[in-house]
Amino acid sequence: MIVAIDGPCGSGKGTVAKKLEERLNLVNIDTGATYRCVALSALNNNIDISDEMKIIDISNDIDIKFKDHKVYLNGEDVTKRIRDNDVTAIVSPVSKIIKVRENMVKLQRKLASTSDVVLEGRDITTVVFPNADFKFYLDATLEERVNRRLKQNEELGIASNYDDLYKNMAERDYNDMHKPVGSLMRTDDQIYIDSTNISIDEVVDKMVDIIKGEN
Ligand code: C5P
Repeated sequence: MIVAIDGPCGSGKGTVAKKLEERLNLVNIDTGATYRCVALSALNNNIDISDEMKIIDISNDIDIKFKDHKVYLNGEDVTKRIRDNDVTAIVSPVSKIIKVRENMVKLQRKLASTSDVVLEGRDITTVVFPNADFKFYLDATLEERVNRRLKQNEELGIASNYDDLYKNMAERDYNDMHKPVGSLMRTDDQIYIDSTNISIDEVVDKMVDIIKGEN
């Protein structure tokens, strides 16, 4: 079974996917983490963000693994590091490079090939698995998403403030919705859920009901 969830940053996809993983015994694949690993690798190798060829080279033979809810880049646990501001600041332009996307989509499909999965990202319902069993678009207002990310960062010990986050997330929304390939978009065959005024647990309950055929 493939459950695909798309939506903008801070819409709750990550949390929802983790809860669906537990409740429905699925393997959760955070596809944003794959792009974050390419961005981190570019930083580690002092590669300029405008040097697309070098970033493509990195993505051609990058070693990314997901194990026990952790993300490994070349064998190193980077679960927390890939959420840092310097990575977040460049991940959107990195993920715009078409060849990088092709490589990551290939990797995501491979990661999903051996079990029942829930994948979350921006182009899962449209490009990675357009024939997924269930396709959701999870949304919330920008203000609500900024507040959620502030809280999440606080819990993770990542320094941030409302204005910078607002600017960064608005920019990422724009970039994510205006990519030449794999941009975030709403389609008629997605199940649309606006989580602005409902709790994440209510979102999860709703999805579980739909998946189990009770809705
Ligand atoms: O979901 P997350 O915020 O970790 O994703 C990081 C970035 O990776 C997004 O801002 C987006 O630009 C990119 N991304 C993407 N396609 C996906 C998942 C993430 O382009 N399927």
